[in-house]
Amino acid sequence: MSAPDPAPQKTGGEPTVERLSAPQKALRQLGLTRDIDLALHLPLRYEDETRITRLADAHAGDAVQFEGAVTHQEVAVRGRRQLLVMVNDGSATCLLRFFHFYPTQLKQMAVGVRLRVRGELRGDARSGSLTMMHPVVRAAGGDLPAALTPVYPSTAALPQAYLRKVVAAGLARADLSETIAPECLSLIPALRSCSLKDALSFLHHPAPGQSALALEDRSHPAWQRLKAEELLAQQLSQLAARRERAQLQAPLLTARPGGLPDQLLAALPFALTGAQRRAADEIARDLGLPRPMQRLLQGDVGAGKTVVAALAAAIAIDAGWQCALMAPTEILAEQHFSKLAEWLEPLLAPLGKRVVWLTGSQKKRERAAQLAAIESGEAALAVGTHAVIGEQVRFARLGLAVIDEQHRFGVQQRLELRHKLSEQEREPHFLMMSATPIPRTLAMSYYADLDVSTIDELPPGRTPVVTKLVHEQRRGEVIARVHDWAEAGRQIYWVCPLIEESDSEDEAMQALRNATQAHADLAAALPGRDVGLVHSRLPAAEKKTVMARFAAGELPVLVATTVIEVGVDVPNASVMVIEHADRFGLAQLHQLRGRVGRGATASACVLLYGAADGPPLGPAARERLKAMRETHDGFEIARRDLAIRGPGEFLGARQSGAALLRFADLAEGDPILAWARRAAPVMLDRHPNLARRHVQRWLGGRAEYLKA
Ligand code: ADP
Ligand code: MG
Repeated sequence: MSAPDPAPQKTGGEPTVERLSAPQKALRQLGLTRDIDLALHLPLRYEDETRITRLADAHAGDAVQFEGAVTHQEVAVRGRRQLLVMVNDGSATCLLRFFHFYPTQLKQMAVGVRLRVRGELRGDARSGSLTMMHPVVRAAGGDLPAALTPVYPSTAALPQAYLRKVVAAGLARADLSETIAPECLSLIPALRSCSLKDALSFLHHPAPGQSALALEDRSHPAWQRLKAEELLAQQLSQLAARRERAQLQAPLLTARPGGLPDQLLAALPFALTGAQRRAADEIARDLGLPRPMQRLLQGDVGAGKTVVAALAAAIAIDAGWQCALMAPTEILAEQHFSKLAEWLEPLLAPLGKRVVWLTGSQKKRERAAQLAAIESGEAALAVGTHAVIGEQVRFARLGLAVIDEQHRFGVQQRLELRHKLSEQEREPHFLMMSATPIPRTLAMSYYADLDVSTIDELPPGRTPVVTKLVHEQRRGEVIARVHDWAEAGRQIYWVCPLIEESDSEDEAMQALRNATQAHADLAAALPGRDVGLVHSRLPAAEKKTVMARFAAGELPVLVATTVIEVGVDVPNASVMVIEHADRFGLAQLHQLRGRVGRGATASACVLLYGAADGPPLGPAARERLKAMRETHDGFEIARRDLAIRGPGEFLGARQSGAALLRFADLAEGDPILAWARRAAPVMLDRHPNLARRHVQRWLGGRAEYLKA
């Protein structure tokens, strides 16, 4: 094998991309460039060519292989032109039917020729009506293979026969020597008994005695070995990234007693909850170390993460550094800006510093002024969308970067952010925030490169939200209730959400149509009152005006598509109606509901589901709605979501850049995962060369994505 080299392999002798043959290009597209990639490309299923079956013993539906002589051949036109070939194996007769065929096949299957035929049987042997559609046909005789025939995931440009050959060659050439240290191997019996080489030979070319069940059963030692190897690679690469970052120099950010953080705490209209204080202390401790903080702050919607971030910013600013805060949407960034400016500007003004705001939709002049303030250091804190890491943005002294709702940024954007912020002389500290809490052990495996702080307590005075499920047929009644609520002085969100992370034009249009319809219905039900409407197509300035009017209590009802989804804070809003609730993910519904129940009034959430004449809900949708009705606890919601979707999909966002884990899931309580977490530091400390080879083998050039 080649020497470890983190870059994707580009050796001099390789043909350039333009000169690759079609199958070679297809191999590239599947990511099959190195021998080891081919060796790790495992079959989807297997075909049994090891046996010849007597037709008389076979049953309809069986995939069988038989040998027999052609007794009749004709090209018939029965509706469609087709080639019909009758083959007799001495026990029964089978009719082969081909709708696509070449002239050479007529010769290959001429009367009297003996054939080996493989395909799925239909019909019945006793009545003499056995048939096969488009079977695989070759001349009879010759050796039978000793192992099952693998069928690989492939593309149209890559015939199975070719893929089988290159995979077999790759498997034969690949260096499969042991990369897991003996003291780690010894902890799991399946690993001792089955080497990587054994596991791969077994899965690529299983012996005929193996039942399909054993092969697909992921508890088989071969699968256990692959899972362990892959999880170890993931843990190793994250742990290595973490240690690498620990070597970097970050500014020491400590606040003076009586400095900005203390002043901020004194000025706040509320006291921190115990959980907020704990998280703030953990962050303060990290900021006071000379290596960059890598911390994830997770907490349910409304748990009060913003003020914890503001305290972190105050520490950085007090120490003479700048802070950047990034949010995934303009509305959310704007909300953060006004909140943080309200809290911090009075404290910053005497120091000649301020908070600035950066977004893609800003006017040139305004933007230039903000950029200048960032470059001069006058801007102590810059808040914005990902415009904060734009080309022209140059911080004088960036000490801390805060990323809100980090999972909503794509893998690529997160990598860009890292690169951009690492261009500085000193590495800034990083604080990531997420309102989608995941169970602690899962968080620790999944974010093995991060420290995790959790706010597991809501601020006092919150009123629980009563959640009701209402069928779409009763929409009229709900509208009448909205009227009553509005008359009683309450504020209502009516949401026709856009499916999360969907960029399909159709879905955006549908959400918009629904919202427009709801807006018309509600306006009709509330004569003389203004009903607000915000959707993704609205220009930013208009959105801002509508939101501001709703926040000021001027609009009783706000109809919205997706814009209020994250983080919006209007404490007086106490009712939320969500249309088509059955179509949305549990996390998204929970986030939406988190917009209400922030003030003193009792709050309600109405989930409209189903269609007036639609089919009944599927089981997953029913489970989601049930979870919403039964619990408000974000951690419980996350647990149920995990149970409904499974960890692969639940955590999908982080992996979407490249399907990184192919064999393993980061399932909670998986002993192999626990093993990988224990083995990773042992490998890095005592066997750094093996560790490097292991990561290189498994991740090659993709290791980078795990750091995002
Ligand atoms: P999230 O964690 O969802 O980002 P926010 O930071 O937006 O939550 O906080 C939600 C609301 O709770 C805000 O209005 C905030 O000012 C308020 N808040 C935060 N912490 C406290 C506290 N300790 N006591 C009372 N209100 C608080
Ligand atoms: Mg928030």
